[in-house]
Amino acid sequence: MTNPNPQSNVVIVGGGTAGWMAAAALSKLLGKTLNVRLVESEEIGTVGVGEATIPTLMTLHRLLKIDEAAFLKATQGTIKLGIQFENWQKEGHQYFHSFGYTGEGCWAAGFQHFWLKGQQLGFGDPDYGQYAPELVAAQAEKFGFLKPAALNYAYHMDASGYARFLREIAEANGASRIEGRIVDVLQKDNGDIASVVLANGNKISGDLFIDCSGFYGLLIDKTLGVGFDDYGDWLPCDRAIAVQTQSTRPPRPYTRSIAHSAGWQWQIPLQHRVGNGLVFSSQHYSEDEALHRLRQNITGDERTDPRLIKFQTGQRQAHWVKNCVAIGLSASFIEPLESTSIHLIMRAIIRLMQMYPHQQTSASDIQEFNNQMRAEVEFVRDFIILHYHRNDRTRDPFWRDMANLRIPDTLRHRLDLFQETGRVFQAQGDVFGENSWTQVMLGQGLRPKRYHHIVDMMPEAELKAFLNTQRSRVEAMVKVLPSHQDFLSAYLSP
Ligand SMILES: Cc1cc2nc3c(=O)[nH]c(=O)nc-3n(C[C@H](O)[C@H](O)[C@H](O)COP(=O)(O)OP(=O)(O)OC[C@H]3O[C@@H](n4cnc5c(N)ncnc54)[C@H](O)[C@@H]3O)c2cc1C
Repeated sequence: MTNPNPQSNVVIVGGGTAGWMAAAALSKLLGKTLNVRLVESEEIGTVGVGEATIPTLMTLHRLLKIDEAAFLKATQGTIKLGIQFENWQKEGHQYFHSFGYTGEGCWAAGFQHFWLKGQQLGFGDPDYGQYAPELVAAQAEKFGFLKPAALNYAYHMDASGYARFLREIAEANGASRIEGRIVDVLQKDNGDIASVVLANGNKISGDLFIDCSGFYGLLIDKTLGVGFDDYGDWLPCDRAIAVQTQSTRPPRPYTRSIAHSAGWQWQIPLQHRVGNGLVFSSQHYSEDEALHRLRQNITGDERTDPRLIKFQTGQRQAHWVKNCVAIGLSASFIEPLESTSIHLIMRAIIRLMQMYPHQQTSASDIQEFNNQMRAEVEFVRDFIILHYHRNDRTRDPFWRDMANLRIPDTLRHRLDLFQETGRVFQAQGDVFGENSWTQVMLGQGLRPKRYHHIVDMMPEAELKAFLNTQRSRVEAMVKVLPSHQDFLSAYLSP
């Protein structure tokens, strides 16, 4: 009798965020058709960072029917309404990239066009972000579930707590975990992976292998030798030092990203502690100097020893090769600046499930998967380069180099379009929409030369009233919200 599902044995290599997200999703959503096993090594451990997310994670949580309060409890999670960028455009300047939408435009022109004309006439709030409910709520450190127009939000969470939480879901749905260090990988004559061999001699065979081994790239790189497109010329930061501290204040509902002379620092507040780290270029700071700078800019006692993480930004030339799909850090890494890695993991998992090769593997599916993953990573790359490239920090060699960088043509086009016309487009496959691009381009100091002509159809007094109404609506929304801390206490009370 032929096997009705010849690709049913899935082996996930690695038990970090990527591995357990994949195990939870595959077992819960395709579990009846698959046998899912995950191999991980406590001796090797996980990268241990990755604690800020973007709202898209809700998609996976909805599919997995995750109870939000249970998730927040298990991960000591907090709400994230966006990121505050400090000293990025220039020292002493700050702006916010919030989730959701800023103001309301019309069918032909986004809200920025109305705001730009208001600025020229001297009315409306000079801070574009004050028309964004998420931003105003974040700055007031408030959060709640508003109806009917809910706030867009994501989470800060403890990475190891998240892996444990997902593991419970995966195991409850039939996935099994195998502890052990992989010391060898065996291939078939056609190059497909046949099995992984553990240090104790056990062999784990499978039909489809998911490489979630992190920066090791055990299967996709070490075994299959798939090349890596290095984005180091555009994104020269290649190190991070991470340390956790005790909280000294109630958690803010946003991430702080603070630029330094050759890198930047994150602050991610959880319920009980704060995740801190400095991302830097090893060409500009020694490790000692980076640690010194980080320590100068954190509050609260250190709970962990500072940990150095070396990385390379870029992506695999193909994410799916033969019977191996790389997901997570083994596939790509574009800096933690906009918290996009977990999003890309989720996209890869959902895409893999949509294209799962139940009967047989199709070369067209593999090609499509790779094309879509490549494009998504490139959109993220461009968005991150924007933050570095458009700056007025002329005193620092690092920032001067970034400002003089020859950026990708795709990004050049977006910046030129915005500067010349105020227009932003939402490209298919780009996780960042019009609001995100506009907030960051304005925040980094790019000013359009023109606004859309359609705004001139509105008499000045009407434009003034239009802007005032939008601002008042945001104020009224935020006024009724409880503080973020009160929200958490009430929502997570036993
Ligand atoms: C400094 C920094 C900050 C970041 N911040 C964010 C953020 O805020 N938001 C975000 O979305 N992302 C962030 N990321 C990315 C995020 O950390 C990762 O995307 C996420 O943790 C997934 O990692 P992973 O599961 O691919 O790898 P890992 O966590 O490294 O897991 C690899 C797994 O493979 C196993 N393994 C490896 N080799 C073997 C072997 N030989 N045998 C058996 N098992 C093996 C390990 O034991 C481990 O279980 C950040 C990354 C860095 C470097």
